[in-house]
Amino acid sequence: MTRVAITGGTGRMGQELQEELTDRSDTTLAAVFSQSGNTAVSDVPTGTPETAEQILDSQQVDVLIDFTVPQGTETYLDAAIATDTPMVIGTTGFSEDQFAELQEASGQIPVLKAANFARGIQTLFRLAAEAAAALPDYDVELIETHHNGKRDAPSGTAGRILDAIDAGTDQRVHGRSGHAPREEDDVGVHAVRAGQITGIHELLLAGNHEELRLTHRAEDRGVFAAGAVDAAVWLAAQEPGWYDFQAVLDE
Ligand code: NAD
Repeated sequence: MTRVAITGGTGRMGQELQEELTDRSDTTLAAVFSQSGNTAVSDVPTGTPETAEQILDSQQVDVLIDFTVPQGTETYLDAAIATDTPMVIGTTGFSEDQFAELQEASGQIPVLKAANFARGIQTLFRLAAEAAAALPDYDVELIETHHNGKRDAPSGTAGRILDAIDAGTDQRVHGRSGHAPREEDDVGVHAVRAGQITGIHELLLAGNHEELRLTHRAEDRGVFAAGAVDAAVWLAAQEPGWYDFQAVLDE
């Protein structure tokens, strides 16, 4: 049994994780942290960012899963380091400095960070790289669509797809407006925010009077929760280091 604590207990992902962790037979929901100290599950120890260190210790937590905001992750990371607790990070939207902090922490504890815990997305990263290499002269555009509560844009997953196709930051054109003709090497990046849409990523390659579209559609947040818990169970047995979700799937 892996004893798992989660952050962001009142959030969309926090609630999915509580369901997933109580449903599974190989995990115990050991503690739930939120800004208010509230939780969806009544008989589980709760805490706030301020009490995280003490509760991680007293509840003998094996691994912490974080889906909050970058500022929240930083606070919980301090508690994880202080208690030698491995940490799975699903939060997105980190600045370069914040990202460097996470990587530095992996010198002390196991850290697994993934912008997307859906298995299909990992395959999309590979297919995107293959398609871009096979069709070098085609125009490439990336469209990502999420619910109206998402804070960061473009999504962390979009960033990973752009990295997979080697689109340099100088090539990325974030939306277009006014006189904005397409340059040959541009990669257009479009963030759509509407309603309750869980998450859609579509890579479009067009040229030679044809178009290829690679689309991943997450139908339910449960897919991210299941992947994050798989990652947590795996990470609890690892040495300090920097890991990504593909390592879990490979095993
Ligand atoms: P949400 O807004 O529903 O929940 C965010 C949670 O963070 C809330 O519980 C809120 O109280 C808490 N929070 C906010 N500021 C905080 C702070 N300063 N300190 C501590 N806690 C704080 O968001 P969500 O839809 O659950 O998404 C959370 C994060 O996870 C986002 O960054 C999102 O992009 C990311 N996400 C990642 C994946 C993935 O597969 N990696 C999937 C879905 C969402």
